[in-house]
Amino acid sequence: MHVLVFNAGSSSLKFGIFSVGTETRGVFKGSYERFRSRGCEYRFRHGETDERGAAEFGSPTEALKGVPAALKRFGVEAIDAIGHRIVHGGARFSSPTLLDDETVEAIAALSPLAPLHNPANLEAVRLCRGLWPDLPQVAVFDTAFHLSNPAFVTTYAVPARWREAGLRRYGFHGTSHKYVAERAAEEIDRPLFDLQLVSIHLGNGASVCAVNRGHSMDSSMGMTPLEGLVMGTRSGDVDPGAFGFLSRELGLSVQQIEDALYDESGLKGLAGSSDMRDIEDRAAKGDPQAQLAIEIYAYRAKKYVGAYAAAMGGLDAIVFTGGIGENSPSMRRRICDGLDFMGLQLDHDRNMGVNLSGHAASQIQAYGSRVRVFVTETAEQLMIARETAAMLAAGQPGGQLRLPIAVSARHVHLSREAVDALFGKGYVLDQATPLRQPGHWAAGERVTLVGPKGRLERVAILGPLRERTQIEVSRTDSFALGIDVPVRDSGRIEATPQVTIEGPSGSFTTDGLIIAARHIHTNPADAKRLGIQDGEYVDVRVGDEDRGLTFGRTLVRVGANSFTEVHIDTDEANAAGIEVTAMGQLVQN
Ligand code: ADP
Repeated sequence: MHVLVFNAGSSSLKFGIFSVGTETRGVFKGSYERFRSRGCEYRFRHGETDERGAAEFGSPTEALKGVPAALKRFGVEAIDAIGHRIVHGGARFSSPTLLDDETVEAIAALSPLAPLHNPANLEAVRLCRGLWPDLPQVAVFDTAFHLSNPAFVTTYAVPARWREAGLRRYGFHGTSHKYVAERAAEEIDRPLFDLQLVSIHLGNGASVCAVNRGHSMDSSMGMTPLEGLVMGTRSGDVDPGAFGFLSRELGLSVQQIEDALYDESGLKGLAGSSDMRDIEDRAAKGDPQAQLAIEIYAYRAKKYVGAYAAAMGGLDAIVFTGGIGENSPSMRRRICDGLDFMGLQLDHDRNMGVNLSGHAASQIQAYGSRVRVFVTETAEQLMIARETAAMLAAGQPGGQLRLPIAVSARHVHLSREAVDALFGKGYVLDQATPLRQPGHWAAGERVTLVGPKGRLERVAILGPLRERTQIEVSRTDSFALGIDVPVRDSGRIEATPQVTIEGPSGSFTTDGLIIAARHIHTNPADAKRLGIQDGEYVDVRVGDEDRGLTFGRTLVRVGANSFTEVHIDTDEANAAGIEVTAMGQLVQN
């Protein structure tokens, strides 16, 4: 499938065509930037061709109207679908969504939350629906990845009235953070579910994200893309008391203050240019303003790295991306300097020598550094193409039969008795990561499983506590332990084998060791829509053309508040060639 992706901003139009199959490959890349009253600059890349020049378009909107001719000129006009980057999806849009009249209206209604971005994104949607009326168009949201943030992250401590009006934190750059986190996990060769990562996206907009075991836990942008880091022209964190001060002392209106925080602040406010290259050049020549701007920029980013390591209670790797993250070794060095105390040490030669050709994710930590440091190009457009194709391939328009797949790595559910034995009497587990099933969480603590043949270290604990301890492993894990483990539905643990669990304060030997039979969690409304019933067995198709397969005998479990999701284990996921999360499809027999 060929997907045309648009990233339409207020000052630039970027687009690309991707061929999405077993692998996703960029076929064409285009951009129109630096708009002036009568013209702009463009760049087209296709195969070996890299063409730059001037065009007559005066705005991104005008430029978009010229895209069909450009695609035709390069012979790449045959496309099957269009994917759009939409910056703000509010609390409603948690996954890629087909753009019909109703969704376009719902996105427009979110414009007050992203007044610079959503209108520009939607203008592109509107034009594309006119230019390609027969193609499906899909919205992929910057905010969606962060909807997993817990309430204590998303809630501002402000009056209830304000919160009821919609004041809360969202977070942006989600597509980029998700992509680079997956990329790092791929390089480390461990499931994302097992890793605690900090992703640092430093472009014109900039944000840091705590990616805790596959889920965004927190990110530095808030209700709007203004909070957090110092950016090209945006201030990032500022005392909200500034509003009163500026109004009283300088007589500025709310609009004037807001405009200045968006457009006249950040690097531009500090040193007169929003371009890090200019600022680094000037700093190297001794310009004190430029030097201070760089110090402030790096310090703010470093603070977030430390904060998020603390928030997650651990850190396996940090990942730099975005124009500055990818290209500025001195900025990476400044951000990482002095973090040895948390096991992060840079290798200066590797840092200087980063070469991001192809699909590279360079590692630049020193030998022996416990925390890895990656530099990799972000690929938001590629990710949007993939998500667009997945959304369309997996279901009817609207995605009625689509089912999110969650891959469960080995884990334990502990009883009170087990927690007491493993961690000490009355110990309260740290409910570190909320899971998608409401009320469920992954603990910050880990345990070890011990069998006659071997040990499995750092096994996750999932809460809440249960009446009886249950240990879920894969067939491969059972070989490592040296125990013959039966496949059972969760909860059916009579006559199951024994295993020993080790914790910091002791060990606990118990039965309850199973290979969990695959199942679908769903709620009454979704079950009705999907045409399935509690206790029924259905077939689910997962994976791509290459390794995809259909799982038979998948048990349906309907719960009042369950989030609809298929649970399979790591062996099943590997067999189907899918990673931590994917989409599947109900097979109608
Ligand atoms: P956007 O967020 O608009 O996609 P980019 O990710 O392209 O922006 O990042 C733009 C920023 O990257 C600019 O500040 C630019 O100066 C900076 N940048 C690009 N190349 C370099 C470089 N070699 N050294 C330092 N900064 C760079």
